[in-house]
Amino acid sequence: MTAITTRVCVTGGGPAGMMMGLMLARAGIDVVVLEKHADFLRDFRGDTVHPSTLEVMHELGILDAFLARPHDEVRTLGAQIGETYYEVADFGYLPTRCKFIAMMPQWHFLDFIAEQGKRYPSFHLMMRTEAVGLIRDNGAVVGVQAITPDGPQDIRAEFVIAADGRGSTLRDVAGLKVDDQGAPIDVLWLRLSRRESDPAASLGRLDAGRLFININRGDYWQCAYIIPKGALEQVRAAGLEAFHAEIVRLAPHFTDRVTELATWDDIKLLTVAVNRLPRWDIPGMLCIGDAAHAMSPVGGVGVNLAIQDAVAAANILVPVLRNGKATQADLQAVQKRRDFPTRMTQRAQVLIQNRVISSVLQGAERPEAPALLRLLQRFPTLRRFPARAVGIGVRPEHIRH
Ligand SMILES: Cc1cc2nc3c(=O)[nH]c(=O)nc-3n(C[C@H](O)[C@H](O)[C@H](O)COP(=O)(O)OP(=O)(O)OC[C@H]3O[C@@H](n4cnc5c(N)ncnc54)[C@H](O)[C@@H]3O)c2cc1C
Repeated sequence: MTAITTRVCVTGGGPAGMMMGLMLARAGIDVVVLEKHADFLRDFRGDTVHPSTLEVMHELGILDAFLARPHDEVRTLGAQIGETYYEVADFGYLPTRCKFIAMMPQWHFLDFIAEQGKRYPSFHLMMRTEAVGLIRDNGAVVGVQAITPDGPQDIRAEFVIAADGRGSTLRDVAGLKVDDQGAPIDVLWLRLSRRESDPAASLGRLDAGRLFININRGDYWQCAYIIPKGALEQVRAAGLEAFHAEIVRLAPHFTDRVTELATWDDIKLLTVAVNRLPRWDIPGMLCIGDAAHAMSPVGGVGVNLAIQDAVAAANILVPVLRNGKATQADLQAVQKRRDFPTRMTQRAQVLIQNRVISSVLQGAERPEAPALLRLLQRFPTLRRFPARAVGIGVRPEHIRH
């Protein structure tokens, strides 16, 4: 086997890894991105491209090409308690070019980023290539051992960026410790077709002991049915018909199509995890995205945070790499920049999970609208604050090079 040699090896072709690869290649830095799957096609991944990510795309000069691809635009978010609808967030107030969340299946988004990357000769994407180990020299990581369809392959690099998601192999091989923040919920993802006569807004429906999120995806609804952690067996034991009845009770307009959920295979479990690494690096390796911090689905901000990590890493590392080699301190600077937004976002998510969602799921009666919701109804301009928290987040990153 002849080792491949590059400057940076990125493992994982998710939002963090692909954006990382694109930004390094765009700066003329040779980069190899490894993705273990043959394509990006995975169902029920984060399909949300947030206003701050769209801003980054504008700064990269690829926004118009991106928006020319089929997508949906979510301009407001709401909640329905019983029969009453409350508008919660209005992206129209944001100081960004795009005042909406673009909804695009993640595989289309990643295909788009791959196409953009391929415009640069220093971008090398290796599909069906799984990172299985680290190559070390004098205690520092100097590459990755991978398995390709043609057999084992070493990729040697000045350093490695692990963007291989929340089940990161490289993080485990590196022996990095993960701090669990706790998650009292799991999510059942399902899809139901959408009719013209349906309400248009993406919203969360709350009722006694139930929380059901509906995201308008044009010709279908992407739905999340929230359950207490580990309660899937209980839900299944009650039977599929009982589950259909629950959905219809929460959203009566699904009566005519709830049987599209023909078997439990049509309902996918997301085991929610919220965790982070106290330390994102070892000598010669840095973790970013879900590999550094798995996010709760609350707010749907996981993709956005993963991309923000990549932008911060490019901002810090590109000038260094243009002039020489990155040091351990340079890799650590990425965590220094992104640790605060990660902690703040997870803190807010854990608070909402524990205080709001858990109490709704435990409640025997229809929840009262909290004072905050009533306030947002009364003063529409206040809807800018939840919109900012979800659409932009803490410490947004901008392309510097
Ligand atoms: C069901 C579900 C729904 C979600 N909904 C939302 C949402 O609505 N909005 C939102 O913002 N976020 C959502 N998220 C979270 C979001 O998908 C993640 O936060 C985001 O994708 C993280 O990006 P990443 O690039 O860090 O990791 P991932 O997207 O996990 O990408 C990691 C990539 O690495 C590859 N890989 C893994 N191991 C290896 C290896 N050893 N070698 C090579 N390649 C490897 C994987 O195949 C994958 O392509 C959801 C997550 C799930 C599971």
